[in-house]
Amino acid sequence: MKEWQKGIREVIPYTPGEQPRFDKMIKLNTNENPYPPSPKVGEALRNIDVDKQRLYPDFAGTELIEALSKVYDVPKECIFFGIGSDDVLSMAFLTFFNTGKPILFPDITYSFYDVWAGLYKIPFKALPLDEDFRLVKEDYYSEKNPNGGVVIANPNAPTSIAESADFIEDIIKHNQDSVVIVDEAYVDFGGESVLPLIKKYDNLLVVRTFSKSRSMAGMRIGYAFGNAELIKALNDVKYSFNSYTLNMTAIATGAASALDEEYFEKTCRKIIATREEYKEKLKKLGFYVLDSKTNFLFASPRGAKFDSNRAEETRKLFEALKKENIFVRYFNKPRINEFLRITIGTPEQMETFIKFIENYINV
Ligand code: PMP
Repeated sequence: MKEWQKGIREVIPYTPGEQPRFDKMIKLNTNENPYPPSPKVGEALRNIDVDKQRLYPDFAGTELIEALSKVYDVPKECIFFGIGSDDVLSMAFLTFFNTGKPILFPDITYSFYDVWAGLYKIPFKALPLDEDFRLVKEDYYSEKNPNGGVVIANPNAPTSIAESADFIEDIIKHNQDSVVIVDEAYVDFGGESVLPLIKKYDNLLVVRTFSKSRSMAGMRIGYAFGNAELIKALNDVKYSFNSYTLNMTAIATGAASALDEEYFEKTCRKIIATREEYKEKLKKLGFYVLDSKTNFLFASPRGAKFDSNRAEETRKLFEALKKENIFVRYFNKPRINEFLRITIGTPEQMETFIKFIENYINV
């Protein structure tokens, strides 16, 4: 090995879902929103002054922070933003998890958490969810598992299951010496937010995104709410890393989207209704479907065709769907390799998906 090779930081990167590019495809694999962003986003885009692109953007993202402050009734100094919630979460790991004690998160959750822990050399403990994929909250109590931080996605991914705000509060209450990050990427689809608790707990960071409920995955906007001291610490680290995270277009369109509450609520409601309808349809076809509070379903096929080797047969179904240009997500990991994660598309897309499943099961 050459001398310089010994100095390379070794990481096993996160594997994002496929981004296939076919004209005719049904893309239900990366939890994107099937509906366009608010029309106000189009308006904001049309108002972008090309000449202004010469200039650096407002590093404080004032327009976006003001919009979020108004919509969520949170003081401006309690709001942070980044390039998607991935950037926000990564900054939070870098900022808060430096005690040398292991951080805690579930064994089945967003698979970026252990990647950041690896990148920043943060020790971690992945605590098993129970048989029904529920969090065992006592495992997160600091007296049981002394820790240097806690990260919980609520609703969780890829399970789609949400715990109540009281349940999450109990975990926060038992960890007042650590920062607790609650990743609410999917909360707008029926979950209970712990946002009101940032006033009560100075160690709580609530992380959100524009990628799902606001149909803006392509614009890469994430944000977080927390006590002003936490937000200042995050900004100090961010400004030591990259001062200008969001570009002008993201700041302007993000603000426009945030302020259009009516459109936002309408699209979320549509997705929830489609989710419930297709959850029932999958159940009627014999699938075991977890109770979702997200914009996806986590479902395991059951019945003669699958019972002999459910993991292998589930993978085959995933491949068969792919051949028809219907993309869903399959995780070849213990405990979840018998499930498909299906993003909620438009009713038309979901109908094509379910018709395919019906035929697949019956031949
Ligand atoms: N948290 C969870 C639980 C997610 O599923 C995702 C989406 N991959 C993210 C955070 C990151 O989303 P984004 O960076 O697009 O905001």
